[in-house]
Amino acid sequence: MITGKTKLLAVIGQPIAHSLSPVMHNAAIAAVGVDYVYVALPIQPADLAAAIAGFAAIDLQGFSVTIPHKQAILPFLTEITDMAQAVGAVNTVWRTDRGWSGTNTDVAGFIAPLKTRPVNWRETTALVLGNGGAARAVVVGLTQLGCAEIHVVGRDRLKLAAFQQGWSSPYRDRLQVHLWDDLSPMLSGAGLVVNTTPIGMSPHADHSPLTPAQIKQLPSDSIAYDLIYSPNPTVFLQQAQAQGMQAIDGLEMLVQQGAAALEIWLQQPAPIAVMRAALQTHLGL
Ligand code: NAP
Repeated sequence: MITGKTKLLAVIGQPIAHSLSPVMHNAAIAAVGVDYVYVALPIQPADLAAAIAGFAAIDLQGFSVTIPHKQAILPFLTEITDMAQAVGAVNTVWRTDRGWSGTNTDVAGFIAPLKTRPVNWRETTALVLGNGGAARAVVVGLTQLGCAEIHVVGRDRLKLAAFQQGWSSPYRDRLQVHLWDDLSPMLSGAGLVVNTTPIGMSPHADHSPLTPAQIKQLPSDSIAYDLIYSPNPTVFLQQAQAQGMQAIDGLEMLVQQGAAALEIWLQQPAPIAVMRAALQTHLGL
C-alpha cells in the first residue's frame, strides 16, 4: 500500500511507456516488503537538468536511466563507478550525502548467463553485431570474461571508427571493428555471437541480423546471444537453435541488471526469481 511514508524510485527515458522496469521492480518491492514504489517518468532531453534538480527536491531515492539519457546524465553526477567509466554510460543512479552517484549494471546483467556456462573464455572469439550503447556494455563484459578476441560489426564507417577510438586498455586490446560486408570470414571462428542490434524486435520481428547461409557458417557448439527479450525467442535464436547452437535471450540480462540496481537502492539482496517471474508473466512467456 502506498502511504505518506512511501519512498520513490523511478526510471527516466523517452519513450518510456513500454518499459518493463516498473513491472519487475514493483514485484520485487512487494516480495521484499519494503515501503517503496517504482514509477516510469517520461523526460525529454531538454528537460533533463530541470528533472534532476526536481528529483533532489522531492527526495527521489534513486533511478534507472535509459535511452536517450544514459550518457547525458553524466554531467549531473558527483561520482561514477569504474564500471560506468569503462562503458561510458550510466543506467543506475542513487543518492549520497555528496549528490548523485551512478554506475552501469548492464555489464553484470549481460555476463550473468554466460558465467554459468562451462566455456573457456580465454580461447573464445566473440562476434558482436551492432556498435550502439548496449554494444559498449557487451565489450566491457566480454573483456571481463577474458575473451581472446572481440570483433564488433557495424554498418556505419564513421560510427564504427568512433566506437573503436572510445576505449582505453584493457578494453581496446582485444577489440577489432569491421563493416557488416566483411562479416562472413569471421563466422566459422566465432564461439559466441551477440546481437546488439534491434533487428528481430518489432517492427522487424520476422528479421534476423544474419542470413540463413551466415548462420550455417557458425560452429554448432557456439553460443548465440540476443539482447532482445521480446519476441522470445527471436528469429536469430530460432535459427541458431535449429542447427544445435546454445541460445541465450535478453530476458536474463534485463532481470540481472535490474536486480543489481535494486540491491544498490535497498542495500539488501534482490528477489531475482520474483523479478524474472513477473517479467515472464507480463510477456506471456
Ligand atoms: P542503439 O544504441 O540504438 O544501438 C543499436 C545498434 O544497432 C547501432 O549500432 C545501430 O547501427 C545498429 N542497427 C540498428 N538497426 C540496424 C540494421 N537494420 N542493420 C544493421 N545495424 C543496425 O541501441 P542499444 O541501446 O544499443 O540497444 C540495442 C538492442 O539491445 C535493443 O534491441 C535493446 O532492446 C537491446 N537491449 C537489451 C537489454 C537487456 O537488458 N536485455 C539492455 C540494453 C539493450 P547505427 O549506429 O549505424 O544506427
